[in-house]
Order: sequence, then C-alpha cells, then structure tokens
Amino acid sequence: MRWSNYFIPTLRETPADAEVVSHQLLLRAGCIRQLAAGVYSYLPLAWRVLTKIMNIIRQEMDRIGGQEFHLPALHPAEIWRESGRWEVMGENMFRLKDRRGADLCLGMTHEEVFTAIARNELRSYKQLPQVWYQIQTKFRDEPRPRSGVLRVREFIMKDAYTFDLDWEGLDKSYNDQREAYCRIFDRCGLQYIIVQASSGAMGGSESAEFMVLTDAGEDHIALCHQCGYAANTEKATSRLPEVRDGDGLPRPEPFPTPGVRTIKDLEEFPDGAPAERQIKTLAYVINGELTLVLLRGDHELNETKLADATGATDLRPGHPEEIKRALGAYPGSLGAVGVTGFRIIADHALKGRRNMVTGANRDEYHLRGVDVERDIPVSLWTDLRTVKTGEGCPQCDSGTLEVRKALEVGHIFKLGTKYSESMGATVLNEEGKEVPIVMGSYGIGVERIMASAIELYHDEDGIIWPMPIAPFQVILTPVNIGEKDQADAAERLYRQLTEAQIEVLFDDRDERAGVKFKDADLIGIPVRITVGPKRLKQGQVELTVRRTRETRVVALDEVLDAVGELIAAEMAFFQQVGSRT
Ligand code: ATP
Ligand code: MG
Repeated sequence: MRWSNYFIPTLRETPADAEVVSHQLLLRAGCIRQLAAGVYSYLPLAWRVLTKIMNIIRQEMDRIGGQEFHLPALHPAEIWRESGRWEVMGENMFRLKDRRGADLCLGMTHEEVFTAIARNELRSYKQLPQVWYQIQTKFRDEPRPRSGVLRVREFIMKDAYTFDLDWEGLDKSYNDQREAYCRIFDRCGLQYIIVQASSGAMGGSESAEFMVLTDAGEDHIALCHQCGYAANTEKATSRLPEVRDGDGLPRPEPFPTPGVRTIKDLEEFPDGAPAERQIKTLAYVINGELTLVLLRGDHELNETKLADATGATDLRPGHPEEIKRALGAYPGSLGAVGVTGFRIIADHALKGRRNMVTGANRDEYHLRGVDVERDIPVSLWTDLRTVKTGEGCPQCDSGTLEVRKALEVGHIFKLGTKYSESMGATVLNEEGKEVPIVMGSYGIGVERIMASAIELYHDEDGIIWPMPIAPFQVILTPVNIGEKDQADAAERLYRQLTEAQIEVLFDDRDERAGVKFKDADLIGIPVRITVGPKRLKQGQVELTVRRTRETRVVALDEVLDAVGELIAAEMAFFQQVGSRT
C-alpha cells in the first residue's frame, strides 16, 4: 500500500473530548471517526486491525469445531418475548416498529435467534453437540457510551453458543471455549486475567470474564497474589476480622442527632459511633417493591450483588419523597428496627452484631444498642458489599486482596436449559425421551481487543501495535522521495517485500522526513525501514523496531531476511506476554 493514496487522516493535536489513551490514539492515528455518541466509523487502518483480530478468532473457533453463521441484526419481538427478555433488557434495547406496526429490535446478543434455529432443526441426540458462532454487529443503547470504542452502542461481537445433550457435554464445550479464548487473547498479544463473574441479565453459571488490567476499564476486579483468586467485585467476597461487640443494651434506645445525615456525620457526632458500629440503611425499589437494604456503615453496596440475590430485573434507589411516605423519615435517619411490611435484606457482615447504631425512622433521631438479629426482622441474609483493597482473601488464609480497574474483553458462561426450556428447544435422547438442550454462551468484544492492545502498548509518540494484529507489519520510509536513488531503492524494496507476502506500508509521500517519522511512530507499525542518503551510498538501510527503538543497519540484499527475522521475533514476543489465572 502506498501512503500517498491511502487514507490515513492523522491529527497532530489530541482531541479535547478524548480521555482514554486508546480513544486519543485511534483518533490521532486516523483509525476511527465518531458518527454519533457511541457510534464510530472504522477507517482503513482500524479495519485492517479488526480484520486480523476476527481472523484469529475464526481460526480458533474453527479449531474447536465451531461453525460460522451470520444471523440477522433485525429481530422480531416474538422470540424475545418467548425468552422473557423483551422486558428484562429495558432501555438498553433499541426497539422499532415496521410499517405494519409490528415490534422489532436490533440484536444486543443472539441467544434467542440461535435457540430458535436449534428448536426448529435439532431433533435427536445424534445431532449433538453443536458449536455455532458468528462475528456480527450488536446494538446496545448504553446509558453512558464513553471511552472511544470501549463502550459503544454499535459494536462487533464474536458470539458463540454450544448445544449439548447433558451437563457433562456442556462441561467439555465450555472448557473448549475457555481454551480457545486463551489462545485468541494470547495470539492477539494481550495480557489478561480470567476472573469469576456475575452472569447478570443473561442468566447462567460459571460465569468467567477475560479481563485486561487497565485504568481505562470500567470493571473492578479483586486479586490475591498469594493464591491466584481473581473475581469481579460484582462477585468477589473477602475475609473480615472478627468483631467483639460487648453486651449492649436490653433494647434499642433513641437519642437526638440534630444535623446528622450521613455515616460520617454520625462518626463525628459527640454521641455517635465509628462507621463499623453503624448500620447503613438504604431504601431500594426492586421490581417495583420498596426494600430495605442493610450494610455495615463502612461498607459499600454492590448493586449487581443485590440484583443477583433478588433476581431483580428492575432496581433503583428510592426517591426521598417515596421513602419519607413509606417510612416516615428521609434518607439520613432511616433504620429497620421494628419495621414491618417491607422486605429487609442484610449483608452477612451484620450477622450476630450487637450494640449498633442506626437511624430511628424519625428525622434527626438515631437508635443505639441495636442487636441486629434481635431487633430487625431480616428476611434475607446475603453477600451485598463491595470488597476493598487490603481485605483478606476468601480463598487462602494469608493473602490480602488488591482491587484493580480492568476492561472486560470476553465472557463465557453456562446457560444450562434456561433458553431451551423457555423456548422449547428439545431433542430425543437415547431412550427416546424428550429433553431440553443444555447450552453455553460465549462472547468477545472485537473492538475492545483493538483498544486494549493500545491501552497496554503505547508511548508518548503513539501506538505500538502488537505484531499479530498490526495493520501493516512494516513501514518503508525514504527520507526524501524526491531523490532518485532513494526513490528507486525504496521502489525495489517495496516490490521485493510485497512479493514475499510481507505487509508493507510504503510512505511515498513528498513530506519532510520529520513528519514521516512522527506519523510512522503515531500509527505504530512494528518495523520501520528507513532509506536515507548516507546509508544508501554504502548500499545499506536502517531497520528500527517501534517497540524497543532498536535500530540496525543492513545491506540492501539482506533486508528481506532481516525483516523476516524481526517480524518473527516481534510475533514471538507478543505471543509470550499473555498471562492466565
Ligand atoms: P459490560 O459488562 O462491559 O457492559 P457485558 O457483560 O454486557 O459487558 P456481554 O454481554 O458478556 O458484555 O458481551 C460480550 C462481550 O462484548 C464483552 O465481553 C465485551 O467485550 C463486549 N461488549 C459488551 N458491551 C459492549 C459495548 N457496549 N461496547 C463494546 N464492546 C462491548
Ligand atoms: Mg460484563
């Protein structure tokens, strides 16, 4: 490819609204342009990267027996009503009507469509297992599209579904996918961690996410460096030191707390209590029902855990006015002592606690001497709090947890028979009995692989593409294309390299050398061949590796071999950096 007629609209300045590095560099390197909030056009450079990623994914899916489909993005509402997710997906689903008034949506995921095919076509255990996948556009009306292509409203997903006769079959299909995912991320050059996760609205078990550690991610994961425990904080638990409460009071005792609104206010109040002796009372509306949620004062609620524990499809904090109407006090003075008529859900850390302080459901009053189990009619004890750095690892005795930000690039989980039962996808087993197909679901975000590679590999000058997914392997840069000997030598090298199947971007633009070097660094091509006047007089050129900045001088007739070696070395480097947990 010749740069002079290839479309790479690079930018000198960092666009003001781009916060994360991958967003900034994708824009500056002429890879993407925004069309609307969370909707991007992929320009030729980015599309070459995405194509390479998709090819790696394809090869690894095919290797475990995957069969590639291409399903519609436009779905009739009926199949989503059958699975129950027409409602569950809420505002995240793009919905529309056709000219006859029929409801349609744009696919956010494809369990329903694949299950509908399976139900109509699979009849016998003899046809199982099946491994089906596609690489296709998904639409999600995300509440906060952000960070360039990391969270968008239209994106490319590889989604795979497995269909087995029984749970042992599913175990094998799931493990095959897990191994294939490791190979995919290894081959793309990513460093990643596999963490336990919540399966959320999709339903299922053994949910595992493939995470890249980066501050650009929106997830938080808890890691134990001692034993390797790794979990999304939506799922992670921890070991807390034991607390001794003393005897407490025979019954809760009200006391005035003028001006106290928060846990912190009460800590600083003369008659107050430290946060770990307080009960935090939150009012949530869960599937339309006001519910009290209790945690220790110094603990934070994890909403995903609350949703998972209650099976909620619709969950939000209560509004102050509806809380006042129901409980007689505003947030800040809430408590659950003596409360009847509402569901009360409490975090495990409150179990057995005595001598606690909580709101009195009377503005400007609190209660002390509260014995949680004696005084509060808890209807569900469960794990609700978000773990923090420094807390004990739940899996080993000695480790402590570290919480880090991470970006989810892939997600695998066992669906079991959720969709096959709701949609009636059954086969006849060996005994001729009709049984629901046992399914698994597996997704990868294609753009997120591209963007996380940039988050991991860049410097102040630009992108450093991992060789396996680089848009071109080599950039060929004559210092001055106006000089005939440089132009001729570069043309000859371009022909040779291209014939040898090496992907070369030939920077044949009539630009100053400084501009070309800057652009080459910015767009991050792994190997640069520089054809300059001094070396050329000796029959030589320079080869520079973008990642290390190492430069070597080689004779013109050795360029092909030397470039081949550098490509192989860079490939090997990026395939070894992958890490698994
Ligand atoms: P997240 O938790 O980040 O919202 P998710 O759990 O909804 O993602 P899945 O439904 O499991 O994601 O989708 C499979 C994969 O698709 C994810 O692992 C991620 O890589 C990618 N993905 C999901 N949502 C988006 C999005 N809005 N933009 C880009 N990629 C996405
Ligand atoms: Mg997720």
